[in-house]
Amino acid sequence: MAARTPLIAGNWKMYGRRADLAEIAKLGARLGEAKGRVEALICPPAPYIAAAVEAARGSTVVIGGQDCSSVGADAARTGEVNAGMLADQGARYVIVGHSERRTLLGETDEVVKAKAEAAVAVGLTPIVCVGETAAHRSAGQVGAVVSAQSLASAPGQGKFVIAYEPVWCIGGDRTPTMDEIGKAHGFIRAALAERYGAATAEATRILYGGSVGPKNAAEVFGARGVDGALVGRASLKADDFSAIIFAHPAAS
Ligand code: PEP
Repeated sequence: MAARTPLIAGNWKMYGRRADLAEIAKLGARLGEAKGRVEALICPPAPYIAAAVEAARGSTVVIGGQDCSSVGADAARTGEVNAGMLADQGARYVIVGHSERRTLLGETDEVVKAKAEAAVAVGLTPIVCVGETAAHRSAGQVGAVVSAQSLASAPGQGKFVIAYEPVWCIGGDRTPTMDEIGKAHGFIRAALAERYGAATAEATRILYGGSVGPKNAAEVFGARGVDGALVGRASLKADDFSAIIFAHPAAS
């Protein structure tokens, strides 16, 4: 069975300006020293995707979007950006169903699935975010929640990535224990195996996200079933993000 290539993805959220794209070029230069194969992805705000692709040119850094419309085709949807437009700008991945969008903008599993399928239809790989709240964890519902969200949000077909991001760990300084991360990834992979078959489940990358930084990245990458990370704050600066990437055994 082929090993899953680790994916370390940076989510810039609504931060950064054109000048900050220099961090992508700096990151690209650093990754030239990587000894093995790790995929490094930066997802800047949508207006900067084309310029980010330029900044990454000549390096191994890949660029993605942070969201796309659930409507795949061109349509009268003022303010929306469809997956085809992201692909046209050079994006290769798109994050869908981030907990900030689920919580603040009311995105349901159904909407997230439509976005993931719109992405697959134009050749983008969706990174489908799932994760329990603190209340779910206290109630012992982690397995049920992450399995149900994964199955209801992932596309019906095509390649995708799951990002396990416990909601209570995003943007703070808490993480689950490594054993808890391993268990959650196990629940998700088992659910994928039931729906898509063992081969697809084994080939699908499951990332951990939530307060990953240079200090804890090596430990997180050592947790069972972790195929990389989705990183928020610590992806904005090439120094921090490259330290995370080089903490992966596959990179050094
Ligand atoms: C995120 O927004 O997906 C995230 C994981 O953020 P942070 O790394 O800042 O917790």
